[in-house]
Amino acid sequence: MKFGQYYAFHKATVLPDRCSIGWEVHQSKAMNNARINTTDSTLSPDGVRNSDRGNPRDAVSGAIIHDRLRLVEAQCCLCETEDSEKVAGGEDFEYRTSDDNFAVSQCQQCGLVYLNPRPALSEFEKIYPATYHAFEFSQKEFGFVYKVRKRLEARRLLSWCKNLSKDARILDVGCGDGFHLGLLKEFGEKGWKLEGVDLDPRAVDIGRKAGLNIHQGSLDTVRLPESAYDLIILVQTVEHVAEPVELLRRIRLLLRPGGRLVVVTDNTGSLDFQLFRKRYWGGYHFPRHWYLFNPSTMKKLALSAGFSVENISTQVSPVNWTYSIHNWLVDRKTPDWITGFFTLRSTLALSFFTVFDMINQRFGKGALINAHLRKPGNPG
Ligand SMILES: [Zn+2]
Repeated sequence: MKFGQYYAFHKATVLPDRCSIGWEVHQSKAMNNARINTTDSTLSPDGVRNSDRGNPRDAVSGAIIHDRLRLVEAQCCLCETEDSEKVAGGEDFEYRTSDDNFAVSQCQQCGLVYLNPRPALSEFEKIYPATYHAFEFSQKEFGFVYKVRKRLEARRLLSWCKNLSKDARILDVGCGDGFHLGLLKEFGEKGWKLEGVDLDPRAVDIGRKAGLNIHQGSLDTVRLPESAYDLIILVQTVEHVAEPVELLRRIRLLLRPGGRLVVVTDNTGSLDFQLFRKRYWGGYHFPRHWYLFNPSTMKKLALSAGFSVENISTQVSPVNWTYSIHNWLVDRKTPDWITGFFTLRSTLALSFFTVFDMINQRFGKGALINAHLRKPGNPG
């Protein structure tokens, strides 16, 4: 079955794009490409955008036919209402997968922010191009930075695993190439049974080669046992799906009574959202992030799916800061040597915004939400 069709039928699936907690780097190469393409889009002397040169022309008028996506109307997935107000607009600043201008709505009842209209499910292959996973954050390339980041991520992950038994069963939904599973395997209890599930065969292949147990498919296509998992993690995934409530309900079925779900996603209650929300906010990730939460809407999501809320806090991340400033500069046709400071390859930008976001997090306005949810019931 084709990629887009998978998504159409099995919405509770995920993609491993920004899946590293906070320090997402899978996209750096593509971001660099985007930067180049953006420079491309300036008008050349003959008045044709360089980015249009590959596009077909209308046979009669000679006008360039732009590549547009098929878009469909969306609604608030929590209130199931269309009572919303347009709050932002932007483009695919990172991948330039289409010429569309996208709009963002905010639900007037609960405040949920969502892409509206959004790409039809049949457009998935276009909006997740082959270059989407083009960049691997490897020790070979990043040396010391890689080591430090790995340690920090491992520490955070292990803090989610407190009180788990030595033979706990853990599932990473939308695990990508298994970055988090690899950390749990290396730094966690040796008796833990680790599993991942992901839609993308390329990412799954990388994870399996590293010796990880990863199911390829979605929570609808892969048969996983119900009431079996002690901990499920959903890192930078829920914002990609068409039916977040349905996804969380499915996850609840897989958890043991008393089992925990940890959700990490972009935070619309953050300072970076407040500053860049009209167009440039990195968390929009146009047009791939469909539902964006703040602590209040995250709570509503959790309760709608039958979870009890243990704790919702914010988490430090330099990624959306870096993307936001990058996008802002790109729109101003800033030279590449300046925008180059605001990519995920820039250790300087990442370090600076990590420290800066630590201050925001102190005030409950960190770039990411970190929700610890529990399936009601006692472990049997
Ligand atoms: Zn709503």
